[in-house]
Amino acid sequence: MRFLLALWLTFGLASVTQAQSKTQLAVDASIDAELADLVKLYKQLHANPELSLQEVKTSATMAEELKKAGFEVTSKFGGYGVVGVLKNGTGPTVLVRADMDGLPIIEKTGLDYASQVHTRNKEGVEVGVMHACGHDVHMSCFIGTARTLAANKAQWQGTLLFIAQPAEEVVAGARAMLDEGLYSKFGKPDFALALHADPLKPVGVVSYTDGLALANSDTVDILVKGKGGHGAAPHLSIDPIVLAARIILDLQTIVSREVNPLDPCVVTVGSIHGGTKHNIIPNEVKLQLTVRTTKAEVRKDVLAAIERIAKAAAVGAKAPEPEIVVSETQFTPATINDSTLVKRTTKVLGGVLGEKNVQTRPPLMGAEDFGRFSKGGVPIFMYFLGTVSQERYDAAQKPGAPALPGMHTDSYFPEPDRAIRAGVRTMSAAVIDLLQVK
Ligand code: ZN
Ligand code: ZN
Repeated sequence: MRFLLALWLTFGLASVTQAQSKTQLAVDASIDAELADLVKLYKQLHANPELSLQEVKTSATMAEELKKAGFEVTSKFGGYGVVGVLKNGTGPTVLVRADMDGLPIIEKTGLDYASQVHTRNKEGVEVGVMHACGHDVHMSCFIGTARTLAANKAQWQGTLLFIAQPAEEVVAGARAMLDEGLYSKFGKPDFALALHADPLKPVGVVSYTDGLALANSDTVDILVKGKGGHGAAPHLSIDPIVLAARIILDLQTIVSREVNPLDPCVVTVGSIHGGTKHNIIPNEVKLQLTVRTTKAEVRKDVLAAIERIAKAAAVGAKAPEPEIVVSETQFTPATINDSTLVKRTTKVLGGVLGEKNVQTRPPLMGAEDFGRFSKGGVPIFMYFLGTVSQERYDAAQKPGAPALPGMHTDSYFPEPDRAIRAGVRTMSAAVIDLLQVK
């Protein structure tokens, strides 16, 4: 009996591993056949970035590529959103998401395929445009995964729901697609996956957070009102600049004195505008804030504290009540990776890249609208894909060496071929695992 058990364990396990490696070999062969073309696609996307809510050409490329891969495609869904569906028998539905927008940054990488694009933002100001958040990597991995899964239908069974999402950088795109009825029209997925480029880790490494990965993000506008006058006669005015300065300093006590120190929280005043000239006291000053929290109750308390402090400061200065607007549309909820899905998928990623290359990372106070795809209880998982060449990574680890350029900087660039290969391998394996043929 013991012998039989040992025999079964040996051959049973061997056949499972063999089946897995057979799948991996088939998948790797597809990826390697596509890689040169994916890098070409990457360079084309990188050189032609578009700002949030302006993803006209990018979304057309995504639609065309998904169609070519055999997906049924719906375009202009929730703005420039693209939805691709590929059915392959009965089984669960897996959503895979890539985001498409670039950032208003003038690229300074010096690459021969660097973006030269300039455009006007929605305020009409001319800006450079750059894929400085790696959304071009996301799209290339996304199309690579679509092609790989379409070429390996024998390895999985179920439905692929591939989403090319616009306007992530202004956290509007996921919401727009969901509000247009993504889940009611195309079916609620059983799982949702995404990857995000990591500018600080080498290619071949992925990292992830189990549970809370990214924070709640709120945008608050405060219009501080005063009474304008001559700069030489402040006693006849109510100076909104002095009042705004007081409000900014008072706001610092929310995190330091009001919130439990064990609850992470950020209140940043990122912009202050008021006045036109040295000797004029203006009527008003505009403040723009970003607020990051990780718990719903802390979010509520912090937003209430901002309002209370701004109003109280105005009372103290005999000023009119300030106008405070917490943006509904720019709110994005925290990204909370589903623990069961994380455990299952990271095991698969470890099989692809080697366990030591699948690392945990602490949560960030940054925000992403991928969290919205958990609507209705869909388990979600976003992992970070190392994108920097090993050589550049090693050089940056040396004492005194300059740090690698981070996300949203004008100098960030990935090593496209190896990063895309790792992205497609990991994402394809994760999807195949969730759609295992019984
Ligand atoms: Zn970004
Ligand atoms: Zn991003």
